[in-house]
Amino acid sequence: MALVRCSECGTECSALAAACPRCGHPNSSQPAQYPHQPFSTGQQTQIVNVTVDAGATRPKKWNPALAAILSLLIPGLGQAYKGQAVNGLAWFLIVIAGYFAMVLPGVILHACCAIGAMMGDPYKK
Ligand SMILES: [Zn+2]
Repeated sequence: MALVRCSECGTECSALAAACPRCGHPNSSQPAQYPHQPFSTGQQTQIVNVTVDAGATRPKKWNPALAAILSLLIPGLGQAYKGQAVNGLAWFLIVIAGYFAMVLPGVILHACCAIGAMMGDPYKK
């Protein structure tokens, strides 16, 4: 085991020690402890970047604009397109009932149906 003389107090200590055991002065012949740190930090940054990229490139399951257009054409079709078949059927019946009852409530319900089709997270069904 190599011995080095402490530059602070002159005590001979192991060259492998990070600091002088007597005065705690950092061992100048032991700089190898620090160059590891930037490497591991860079690795961590890379992992974060990969995670962000994966989230950004996640494909959309459905298009909100297309869902709204489909529900404007046929009430509830946008909901059915999003995979909400029961929801779409309910909207279809509500809007048709609204049109039969009076034209204006039907139009309002139809608009609500189209807006509802646009809502939600396009990344999940
Ligand atoms: Zn010392």
